Amino acid sequence: MKAIDLRSDTVTQPSEAMRKAIFSAAVGDDVYQEDPAVHELETLGADMAGKEASIFMASGTQGNLIALLAQCVSGDGVILGEDSHIYNYERGGLAVLGGLMPFLARESEGLPLEEDVFRWCRSTNVHFNTAKMVCLENTHNRGGGRAVPPETFRAFAEKARSRGLLIHLDGARLWNAAVKYQVPLRSYTECVDTVQLCLSKGLGAPVGSLLCGSREVVERAREWRKMVGGGMRQAGLLAAAGTYALKNNLSRLVDDHRHAALLAELLRHGGLKVRYDEFSTNMVFLDARSLSCSAADLTKRCASRGVLFSGMGDFLRCVTHLDVTEEDVCAAAEVILHELGNA
Ligand SMILES: *Cc1c(COP(=O)(O)O)cnc(C)c1O
Repeated sequence: MKAIDLRSDTVTQPSEAMRKAIFSAAVGDDVYQEDPAVHELETLGADMAGKEASIFMASGTQGNLIALLAQCVSGDGVILGEDSHIYNYERGGLAVLGGLMPFLARESEGLPLEEDVFRWCRSTNVHFNTAKMVCLENTHNRGGGRAVPPETFRAFAEKARSRGLLIHLDGARLWNAAVKYQVPLRSYTECVDTVQLCLSKGLGAPVGSLLCGSREVVERAREWRKMVGGGMRQAGLLAAAGTYALKNNLSRLVDDHRHAALLAELLRHGGLKVRYDEFSTNMVFLDARSLSCSAADLTKRCASRGVLFSGMGDFLRCVTHLDVTEEDVCAAAEVILHELGNA
């Protein structure tokens, strides 16, 4: 039995064609900046983001961390949404490695609340450390995979900029937002200073992220990346998978969104409370408080029948990706509803 793995869009397997692209990549030593495959990916990423430069990172966590290290100094405040990935899931790297202080903001509809953000933009005073930057996340993971529309996003960014804040976008799944609203990636990235884009989520590459920004910030990021051990040698083997993913797996993200919508509809039809609306993308959140058994029990029962999903607070998260077909989604809904009926 093939498992239907809805835990995350990070579980995808490289396809035959992607493996061929890896196999045939021309590579060199990327610490010497002599790897043509890395160069090709970085050029493509910078162009898509409308930035001067981009740099290949080992992971999204590394890309986010280095974006902050390259633009802030120890003691600076970084405004973070309280549900953001950077605050919740990255081991507090900004504080541990950067001496940066998280300034928290409540969030609503995928963005930090303006009143909370601007509360940190305080006048100069001997007591206060500076709010240097605000980090945004789109699509928003803990926000249910919510894609903030480009106009709303830009309006927020302009206000933040007018208060003198730098803006870093954690765009691990920004591709999903761009595809959903059928806009070029630039519609989101032109109004931010730096953006981190994951290649290993919905795009289906095995490893890597791009950090895009000005030439100056990317050069500083290169120094920080070396310091934290992220200078990789023949990294083109990994970058080739990223380039393949950008050229072949981007537009198909609409399929993931369609599959997620179908899953939500089937579960709702079965009487379950799910979070999936007009802003949703490739994630369906099932409200675990409304179940007839415990979330842990349902997770275990479904796993034993080959349907995997993950827990997130009061919700069970199901994520669609390129290894999940329409039939898989129907089968998964059937298993979930069946197991609940038997609970
Ligand atoms: C996955 C993810 C990251 C981190 O990426 P890794 O490659 O797992 O380190 C950052 N932000 C968001 C929103 C993510 O979903």
